[in-house]
Amino acid sequence: MSAAPYVVATTTPPEIVCPEWCTVSKDEHIADLRNQEGFVIHASDTAEVVCVMAVMTPDGMPDPDGEATVEYDGRGLAIAQARELAAALLKAADTLERTTTLRGP
Ligand SMILES: [Zn+2]
Repeated sequence: MSAAPYVVATTTPPEIVCPEWCTVSKDEHIADLRNQEGFVIHASDTAEVVCVMAVMTPDGMPDPDGEATVEYDGRGLAIAQARELAAALLKAADTLERTTTLRGP
């Protein structure tokens, strides 16, 4: 049997523990707590081509039901999927480089 969820109302903002790569401000995290059912979504710089997102508790523990993802091209990739895509990109780049090298100047 699982524990029933409960709500605690307080006027003291919680301490938010961010991973070193998180670019979301503490105020944004606190404002978003209500929308995320008490969890925090950490994100690296979303202006980058590839970024990282992770759902965690305010004190920095991973959400057991949430998934940390590598965000690329509008898709959330699990760690294994991100590594698979990276390997495929490197292979394609190597293939293209060999082709263009053979062509010469
Ligand atoms: Zn954060």
